[in-house]
Amino acid sequence: MCKERRHSQDAAYALPMMKWKVKPVSPIHLIPTLQQRDHPLAASAHQRAVLADLGLRSFAEAVTSAGHAPLCADRIEVLQINVGKRCNQTCRHCHVDAGPNRKEVMPAAVVEACLGLLEQSRIPTLDITGGAPELHPQFRELVVRARALGRHVIDRCNLTLTRLPNYSDLPAFLAAHQVEVLSSLPHYTAHDTDAQRGDGVFVQSIAALQAFNALGYGVAGSGLILNLVTNPSGAVLPGNQAALQQAWQHELQARYGIVFNQLYTITNMPISRYLDDLSASGALGCYMERLVAAFNPATVAGLMCRSQISVGWDGQLYDCDFNQMLGMALPQSIFEVTVEDLARRAIQVDQHCYGCTASAGSSCGGAVLGV
Ligand code: SF4
Ligand code: SF4
Repeated sequence: MCKERRHSQDAAYALPMMKWKVKPVSPIHLIPTLQQRDHPLAASAHQRAVLADLGLRSFAEAVTSAGHAPLCADRIEVLQINVGKRCNQTCRHCHVDAGPNRKEVMPAAVVEACLGLLEQSRIPTLDITGGAPELHPQFRELVVRARALGRHVIDRCNLTLTRLPNYSDLPAFLAAHQVEVLSSLPHYTAHDTDAQRGDGVFVQSIAALQAFNALGYGVAGSGLILNLVTNPSGAVLPGNQAALQQAWQHELQARYGIVFNQLYTITNMPISRYLDDLSASGALGCYMERLVAAFNPATVAGLMCRSQISVGWDGQLYDCDFNQMLGMALPQSIFEVTVEDLARRAIQVDQHCYGCTASAGSSCGGAVLGV
């Protein structure tokens, strides 16, 4: 019998409605990364072995039974590049095991090769992630050059980075280049957000969102897109995306005067620090059984790996950021590939993929079925 450790996202919250003025910066509480702790789960092979040892139905078999074997890409609409694992936060659920002490940073030659692939192709979107991608020394150059090629650019911004002294002009830079901002805000209350992302994150996130709004981000008609991401606090599936978006819009507007475009719900992937969290609390088996039971064949056609390619900080290619963190590399690197090679490639899957097919599905752009 599965025990809920915390509430589901659909639960009602009894906190009082209030408008507050956000005070400036309080320090963010950091935890050691798995790498710093020399934890066995810092090794991607061990993560995959832990999931395999649960003995659950193989994801490959589930895909076959859904009539999608072999799972293949059918186009490349998004070039997602992970420019490094450095971050000013250490969220408990981070699938990257990112943190301030990580050393991985995409070298200039890889940045150049990514821009080269964009230039030679018609891939419409560059999605920049990390770590905190803005910490990369060439982040702004990447944005400027991709925009000059006419590509849509997404910055997966953790919000608090913009409160650091050297990055306070970042929102204005992003606005000037019409970059879409995609930011995680697990909940509209401090308690739930800080529980996942570290004490002090919520207050800074709210201040950052207000600053983005002041530039026109999320404001109807501005053309500046501000999307938010939420993932559950406990070992449960996300709630209904449309309903949660309505609640987030209402609460953020009422409490803090914040507006945004869309809310994406994302299922927590059993990878890295979240896998550690699940294992340590004894909830891993239960959570994985829940994902397997919720396998929805209708999500397979819309899996994000079918329409994107992911580049690691060192230039290695992957089907997605999750496969990247699990070391499931494609045969090619960014230096030896064409879009034609990638668009019809066979996708590598493993047990973590159940996180993308449970219920309405999950992707870097929210629910697959868009409910
Ligand atoms: S989830 Fe994002 S913001 Fe949090 S530690 Fe990982 S990379 Fe940084
Ligand atoms: S984890 Fe990656 S490869 Fe697996 S289903 Fe999700 S997007 Fe596709």
